[in-house]
Amino acid sequence: MEQKKHTINKNYPKRKKTKTHQNTKDINLMPQEMRCICGGGQSCIIDRRWIGDWVHEDVIFKSKGIELRTSCCDLYTTRQKEALNENLTRN
Ligand SMILES: [Zn+2]
Repeated sequence: MEQKKHTINKNYPKRKKTKTHQNTKDINLMPQEMRCICGGGQSCIIDRRWIGDWVHEDVIFKSKGIELRTSCCDLYTTRQKEALNENLTRN
């Protein structure tokens, strides 16, 4: 007598749909404490960092080893201003 082996699989839990690796995150999933004091928005650096969007000033600051702003209401430090001005005049 031949036993059907595929019945074994019945006890295995159904696999959850594996999410395809996404580059973008849902902005609504950002924890409240991480949200920017500006309230967020398309031009908000915190929002943009979260969803993996390109943040121009971050690129400039990182390339120069300057600390990034922690919210878009932060005032630029002297070094940050200089870096941005330098970048603007170069282009
Ligand atoms: Zn903001």
